[in-house]
Amino acid sequence: MDYINDSKELIQFIESSPSMFHSVKTIREMLEKEGFTYLPESSEWKIEKGGKYYAVRNHSSIIAFKVGDRLGNYSFRMSASHSDSPTFKVKNVPEINGPGEYLRLDTEGYGGMIDSTWFDRPLTLAGRVLVEENGKVEAKLLYIDKDILIIPNVAIHFNREINKGYNYNHQVDLLPLFSAGEMKKGAFDEMIAKELGVQKEQILGRDLFLVNRQKGVIWGYQNEFVSIGKLDDLQCAFTSLKGFLASDNPETVSIYACFDNEEVGSNSKQGALSTFLYDVTRRIHTGLGRSEDEYYQAVARSFMVSCDNAHAVHPNHVEKTDPVNCTFMNKGVVIKENATQRYTTDAVSRAVFTKICKDAGVPVQSFANRSDVPGGGTLGNLSNTHVSVHAVDIGLPQLAMHSAYETAGIKDTSYAIEALKAYYNSNFVIEDEMNIRF
Ligand code: ZN
Repeated sequence: MDYINDSKELIQFIESSPSMFHSVKTIREMLEKEGFTYLPESSEWKIEKGGKYYAVRNHSSIIAFKVGDRLGNYSFRMSASHSDSPTFKVKNVPEINGPGEYLRLDTEGYGGMIDSTWFDRPLTLAGRVLVEENGKVEAKLLYIDKDILIIPNVAIHFNREINKGYNYNHQVDLLPLFSAGEMKKGAFDEMIAKELGVQKEQILGRDLFLVNRQKGVIWGYQNEFVSIGKLDDLQCAFTSLKGFLASDNPETVSIYACFDNEEVGSNSKQGALSTFLYDVTRRIHTGLGRSEDEYYQAVARSFMVSCDNAHAVHPNHVEKTDPVNCTFMNKGVVIKENATQRYTTDAVSRAVFTKICKDAGVPVQSFANRSDVPGGGTLGNLSNTHVSVHAVDIGLPQLAMHSAYETAGIKDTSYAIEALKAYYNSNFVIEDEMNIRF
């Protein structure tokens, strides 16, 4: 395994993905390079054995699939990750004038970010803009490759208590500074228009988010760590994609899914709670000319690996994590379990995934929340509401989840790629609830 190279590639992947729309664009480009065919949801799909395809919803969720060329009683071999990360969204009326000649942006929180990490660092904007052009309304992706905003802290002289903790108010404390007078009201859309090469009047709608400009780094005297924003969950989106692309399983339909809106509850037309995965699996199945009953058979044999990053033990706060079901960076892929099924893992799915990792020589760690702390939910149990299959929740151990700048271990990037590749390649067959043949 080439740890340094894999994490360098991860940094490139994340830096090419400043918004969920860009995450999907980056993934699309990797799929196109590998010969995948785009299937618009609004067109008829022609599915062939041995074919490689993908569908996109809302420019922000993507499902790619490879159809085996020796399909018998097949199954879906799936993974899911998410394309979004916590940030701030610019409101539709974007500017606040004053005090003085200041121009600030009016923003609101997207997801559960650590507020303090967004202060005093250069920021920019990324997302999509809907533009009227030649009688059409077209979505254009926007990333402004320049430091254009900062959310300034209040000087300690004005708040001597700041280091005792502070309750940040998103409408008061977290509005970014845009100009000190050089730019006047209306300048925001002028800037957007200029960046897109259109007129300001052509802009009809925008989904624009703040982006941390700090570059990703591999660090530590022995290069143990990788730090960059959005490791949750782009580290999983990247590693599961690499594993998916490197695999070749003629007997299954391999599916790679990356959903938007996990950070805000997944309850959107493109989120893990939507019909997207169900719709795609149905269309693959009918496209293969299979019967209704065979669909249920395929689903019963299917498996999902829900990939969303996990918490490593914090070096200064070991008390935050369970004494034994806790994980460390560079020690392997994490299987997450929760008795109340916020994670999908059970003994069956754990056994399947553990065996795959063991056979592939990938170390596995075990995570459970402290029993007195409710943990976060994730993708698997949500996507299971429409396509209900055996599923395991995994992730890579990281520090500072939902900070604007997160830290993980470089070896785990490579472990996850190996684990997912082995998973997609594996020929296990779920014969019935209690019997899995390898
Ligand atoms: Zn996540």
